[in-house]
Amino acid sequence: MSAAAESETRSESEAPERPSPYDRPFDDSRIVKYGQTPGWEVLRQVAQEIPAVDAAIQALIAEMGDLMYGAHGVGLAAPQIGRSIRLLVYDAGEGLKALVNPVILKKRGEQIEPEEGCLSIPGLRGVVRRANEITVRAQDGAGKPIRFRAVEFEARVIQHEVDHLDGVLFIDRAEPDTLHMEPADPAKADAPAE
Ligand SMILES: [Zn+2]
Repeated sequence: MSAAAESETRSESEAPERPSPYDRPFDDSRIVKYGQTPGWEVLRQVAQEIPAVDAAIQALIAEMGDLMYGAHGVGLAAPQIGRSIRLLVYDAGEGLKALVNPVILKKRGEQIEPEEGCLSIPGLRGVVRRANEITVRAQDGAGKPIRFRAVEFEARVIQHEVDHLDGVLFIDRAEPDTLHMEPADPAKADAPAE
């Protein structure tokens, strides 16, 4: 099921008066595409620590959320919009979350589903083995230090996005013979992209 479909189901059952943030035309035009967008090499750089969560960072978080939903994605890292800083946003089904300077402290277990896709490599999907459970230290969108455990899909999305901050792409980790093309709009594919 796509991120958009899941979200529509949720909004119908829990908040029928509020439209889903995914309920808009697909637009990934501002996402940096691997090997295509001028300056795409930012996707291969190790991003810089963010010294303070100020108004500019908070505005960037809001903008990244908007671009992520517009691209019908479930996660977006700052390098994917050309900013080489350690910031990511995601929505694993509980609304938009932002992580500043995230560090994965512990990894446990293994998961292999769902297949991953990446907003910066439109349409390509494949199987990536990820830890099933992680402990994360970061700052939230208000700059508050946080430490939490994430499991399953949320853990997968965070691992994918933290990889982006280190210049690592899912194609580096995917089982090579599972890589295949699906429609670029994740809403029309079997799984969301990040
Ligand atoms: Zn990605």
